[in-house]
Order: sequence, then C-alpha cells, then structure tokens
Amino acid sequence: RGTVVLAATPIGNDGDASARLIALLEHADIVAAEDTRRLYALANRLGVHVGGHVVAYHDHNEREKADGLLDRVESGATVLVVSDAGMPTINDPGLAVVRRAIERGLPVTCAPGPSAVLDALALSGLPTDRFCYEGFLPRKHSERMQYLRTMRAERRTMVFYETLHRIDESMADLLEAFGPDRPMALCRELTKEYEQVRRGTIGEIRQSVVDDPPRGEMVLVVGGASETDVQAAAPASLSVADLAVL
Ligand code: SAM
Repeated sequence: RGTVVLAATPIGNDGDASARLIALLEHADIVAAEDTRRLYALANRLGVHVGGHVVAYHDHNEREKADGLLDRVESGATVLVVSDAGMPTINDPGLAVVRRAIERGLPVTCAPGPSAVLDALALSGLPTDRFCYEGFLPRKHSERMQYLRTMRAERRTMVFYETLHRIDESMADLLEAFGPDRPMALCRELTKEYEQVRRGTIGEIRQSVVDDPPRGEMVLVVGGASETDVQAAAPASLSVADLAVL
C-alpha cells in the first residue's frame, strides 16, 4: 500500500518550501493540486521537476476524486495533496480524501509547513495558549452579526481569515459586536515583502482600516473575552453564580 501525504506549500515566500515538500513534488506518483497551473508555477520557481501524474483536486470535485486517488494508494502509490497556499484542508481542499482514507483504513500523513493561522497567531502578541480558528466570517452583514454575537463570551483568542473586499464591513461588525476596547491584530501579506502587523484595540484598528485601507491577504486575530466581557454578554436573567455553574 502507498500513502496519502498532505503537504503545506508557501503562503507567499518560496523560501518556506520545505525539503520534504520538494522531495515529494519530485517523487510522488500522483500530485493532486487545487490548481494545476499554480502547482507548476511553484515547481518552476523552486526549480523542481514534478515527476508524477498531476490531477486537479479542488472544492468542486474533491468528493468524486477521493476514491479514485485512494484506489491508487491501495495499489501502492504515494498521492501528494497540495492546495494553492498553506496547509490543505484549512479553508482549502483536502478533507474529503482524508476522511475517505480513514474510512478505508488507508495511511495518511502530513508534511507540515506554512499556514496563515499559526503565523498570524504567533505574531499577534495575543495569548496563544488557547485559541480558536474561525475561518472566514459569513458574507452577509446580518449573518455575520448574528455569528459574532454568539462569540462575545468566547475566552480564547479568535483567528479569522478575511479578504480585502470585506475588511471594512467586517471591522465595523467586530466593533459593534465586541466593542472598541478588545485587543486585536490585523496581519497582512504574511511572509511577503510588504508583511505588516497592525496591533491595537478593535476601535484603533477599525480607524486604521478607514484611514489606510489594507491591501493583500489578511488575517484578523482578536483577543478573547475578559471576565467583564463575559458578564456583559450574559443574558440579564443569569447571575454571576449561574455563570460559574455553566
Ligand atoms: N490553506 C491556507 C492556510 O493554511 O493558511 C488558507 C487558504 S484560504 C483560501 C486564504 C486565506 O488565508 C486568505 O484570505 C487570508 O485570510 C489567509 N492567508 C493566506 N496567505 C496569507 C498571507 N500570506 N498573509 C495573510 N493572510 C493569508
């Protein structure tokens, strides 16, 4: 039997390609890539010859493709799964093949590497001992607000992915949901030439987004609720004693 290998690819700095990623690109029998053109472009920049058969494996076909790839694993192939950037499965394709491999009792392993979640969290300066990854916020204002309200009492540091098209609205909603005083960090263009981390309160970062709209890819890291925030978020009918029980 072969193996499925999930491999992280750089999120903006080719120097972050691991020696293991490079060896896998050269030697895997099959490379399942989110975007085959981007895969070849990366391989070119790294000076790597992709030895195996390359197949497109993206959000729209990952379920149908998973079993075919795993049939090849069953007959001895190494199947490398890569997304456009960062860790596969983290807001990127990959989960379907992992699930099916587990169901079929086939080996899966991971060649870890860059992912914007941990990069942003570590740079934020906010507590890292407990955090939750929240992916992208809902697109619609009403759903986003509803979702954020459910997170008012979240104690862990929260990590959100965001796009430049929605950063303005999302910052306005974060301000409304969490108030102006929570600490946060807006981390953009991580690992790239114009990497920037803006740290401050939600109110300050909101203002900075209005004054100087950030460009590029970005991650928002928001501090978890303090004791006072938790009390403020609790329904009026619950006392502090009730909360202790909860
Ligand atoms: N699989 C990727 C990972 O492990 O980070 C995430 C893919 S998701 C489709 C793309 C989002 O990741 C972007 O909208 C942004 O929020 C975040 N991201 C990816 N690269 C980034 C970078 N270099 N700087 C800041 N954020 C980044």
